[in-house]
Amino acid sequence: MLESILAALVVFLVFGFFGLAIGWWTLAAAALLFYLSSVMAFSGVTNVVLASLFIAVAAVLNVRWLRRKVLTDRILAVYRRILPDMSQTEKEAIDAGTVWWDADLFSGKPDWNKLLAVPEPRLSPEEQAFLDGPVEELCAMCDEWEITHEHQDLPPRAWQFVKDKGFLGMIIPKQYGGLGFSALGHSAVVQKLATRSSTAAISVMVPNSLGPGELLLHYGTGEQKNHYLPRLAKGLEIPCFALTSPEAGSDAASIPDYGVVCRGVWQGKDVLGMRVTWDKRYITLGPIASLLGLAFRLYDPEGLIGGEKDLGITCALVPTNTPGVNIGRRHMPLNAAFQNGPNSGKDVFMPLDWIIGGREYAGKGWMMLMGCLAAGRAISLPTSAVGGAKALVRFVGAYARVRSQFKTPIGRLEGVEEALGRIAAHCYMMDATRIMTAGAVDRGEKPAVLSAIAKYHMTERARQCVNDGMDIVGGKGICLGPNNWIGRGHQIAPVAITVEGANILTRTLIIFGQGAIRCHPYVLREMRAAKELQGEEASREFDDAFTSHAGHVLRNGIRTFVLSLFPGLGPAPRNAAADTKHYYRHVSRLSAAFAFLADISMLAMGGALKRKEKISGRLGDVLSMMYLVSATLKRYEDQGRIKADLPLVRWAVRDALHRAQEAIEGILSNFPVKSVATLLRWIIFPRGKRLRPPLDSRNRECARIALEPGATRDRLTAGMYLPKGEHATAVLEAAFLAAVAGEPIDKKLREARKQGLDPENALSVLSPEELAQWQRKEALRKQVIKVDDFPQDFDRAELALDAKAHVAAKAA
Ligand SMILES: Cc1cc2nc3c(=O)[nH]c(=O)nc-3n(C[C@H](O)[C@H](O)[C@H](O)COP(=O)(O)OP(=O)(O)OC[C@H]3O[C@@H](n4cnc5c(N)ncnc54)[C@H](O)[C@@H]3O)c2cc1C
Repeated sequence: MLESILAALVVFLVFGFFGLAIGWWTLAAAALLFYLSSVMAFSGVTNVVLASLFIAVAAVLNVRWLRRKVLTDRILAVYRRILPDMSQTEKEAIDAGTVWWDADLFSGKPDWNKLLAVPEPRLSPEEQAFLDGPVEELCAMCDEWEITHEHQDLPPRAWQFVKDKGFLGMIIPKQYGGLGFSALGHSAVVQKLATRSSTAAISVMVPNSLGPGELLLHYGTGEQKNHYLPRLAKGLEIPCFALTSPEAGSDAASIPDYGVVCRGVWQGKDVLGMRVTWDKRYITLGPIASLLGLAFRLYDPEGLIGGEKDLGITCALVPTNTPGVNIGRRHMPLNAAFQNGPNSGKDVFMPLDWIIGGREYAGKGWMMLMGCLAAGRAISLPTSAVGGAKALVRFVGAYARVRSQFKTPIGRLEGVEEALGRIAAHCYMMDATRIMTAGAVDRGEKPAVLSAIAKYHMTERARQCVNDGMDIVGGKGICLGPNNWIGRGHQIAPVAITVEGANILTRTLIIFGQGAIRCHPYVLREMRAAKELQGEEASREFDDAFTSHAGHVLRNGIRTFVLSLFPGLGPAPRNAAADTKHYYRHVSRLSAAFAFLADISMLAMGGALKRKEKISGRLGDVLSMMYLVSATLKRYEDQGRIKADLPLVRWAVRDALHRAQEAIEGILSNFPVKSVATLLRWIIFPRGKRLRPPLDSRNRECARIALEPGATRDRLTAGMYLPKGEHATAVLEAAFLAAVAGEPIDKKLREARKQGLDPENALSVLSPEELAQWQRKEALRKQVIKVDDFPQDFDRAELALDAKAHVAAKAA
């Protein structure tokens, strides 16, 4: 009897694991019932009752028409009542963009072979030539200390170069005179600039992100495209995009800025136009923009262009020399020098033709913004974060080898090693994510959820890397000046955290909130059936989505349990490297657990889950960690499984897997229904929490990569600007190489001193060549550890004199 029940359990687990259709379950249940009735010798009446019950339940579950009438139509009615109404802006945000690998991770059964079959994204020869030519030149022109301290802007020569070489039109197709770069090419340019000057990177990234260029490409009228795109491509226009208002930051859809449709005089003619009033702040490039992309709410109280009085958010292109437009004042974002400031206008009259896409697109601004958000968000900030991390690996690693304390390069002290190894491993994972996400954009995806993951996690990791870097560099990182190559990066890190969707909101509201609806195989279909369809059509669609959803939950629950008991059963790609195969299996298990947990959370908390941001944030973390691990494993495969990179892969993957496990633990510990949490814990962790954080020995291997000159360090920091000339970072690199090459000489000197020689006389044990090499190394080392100091008034008097002389010269 016991054996039979166990056998039945195994059969059901197998059916659930492979997600077999309801018919198979019914057959198996019938067989079990038949067996039980014969073994237990039920009476005739009991048999008849049991058989009738079984037939009734089986009929309801298997006969679609009956199931709808008895079951799913009733559920649909309840669902309609409890499903909160969605605003138009929420609908547009959810409809925006596409889903790709995120949908696989959400399914509980990611198809690894599909992921690994995606070709590795590559730069075109033209993009590479641009990186080796103009980008290299622009980097050489930029000295971040001069920019931030002296010019408070890019130098005029650099600005002109940016415009002339087409940096502002990388995403504009060639037919309009732009560079027509791929997302990967665009990302490579921003990354390289970010390794040298965040001011240059931001100034270039903004016009290539969400703004006039991108909006015109997708929605502009022919006339608008032909007029503006060539001008934007050639830098004849400096664009900005103004959405944020003092009253509407994160909740950007609630902007109070408004326009009213009316008649007015434009260039001597009476035309239909709008009178627009706005007050914006934080607008990047705003103070120097010639073309203002402006978002406002458009009203048509007199019905001059249509039926609706409140047409909704509208985007227009406003030349900033239009009378009534106020620009020019600047904010000072943490001492960074990129142009950023407020702008405003009161009752500024403008023709309807200025609406992007013309009057047909009046009121469609939110849809346009949401539709275009993903591409820019996938590139700009994630990429500059990677640039920052690469610069940190190279410079902090070099510094940790040059700087010694306790007679040891600080990079070899375990505490420092820990922080340095973290920077190196994060950098590998961040670069892998950059490349996979940009590749997705190039294949036509508009990755709404993946771009949010990339934005959030890359900027957070960059912040952690720069914090680690600052700790390693110590006082030298704190005292600003031309010799400090890290302080400005540390100051500016929060900017990336706040812009393009502030990070707390991105984590807690977008990644899971949007992902759950968008990537889930059935939730959106159920919602549409409930809210958008009627009658028979709604009933059929809901029945299909709901029953598939129920099967999906059951399958994922069983898969989670089985894969937790037997991790070796987790799917992995056919041809994955032996070194990394188990990581794929872990993600397969986490994916099933995540999908199951997401469904149970939605079921248990319903609409309230939206407000339970601590839970939805952690669900988002699990999804994000799986994405980051996928990108890292794919990168390892794409690059041909380079063994020397394996420590970076291992540390980064184990760290992310462990974080995912801890996020699940956080959800279970705080789950509002305790009995459900206990059940979930049995299913998800039947053998306890088995994922461990990365080992210290791996961390050491990662730190060594940053501490040793060579191919692995070069590969990890590939694509960055390698400093030249007298710049502090060029001296650092030279000092690093000299320190490594000079270690045998240092050893000889140490031994001489152990024999009792004083520092001066110990030098006599060196040959003339060794002495020269040691002296050069020492000179470089001293330069590297040097910290800037300034006169009492920080040269203000001198600067004031210079300014006076400048004014006098101008007047003359
Ligand atoms: C340097 C800089 C450049 C910028 N460039 C531009 C630009 O070019 N164009 C433009 O239009 N805007 C720009 N912005 C604006 C930027 O997009 C906003 O700063 C951002 O949207 C956040 O708005 P806020 O600063 O008003 O913060 P708030 O909206 O006041 O948010 C404060 C905090 O609350 C959190 N929060 C808010 N709502 C929620 C929620 N529902 N759940 C959880 N947490 C929440 C946020 O995450 C944040 O941590 C820029 C900002 C800066 C600082």
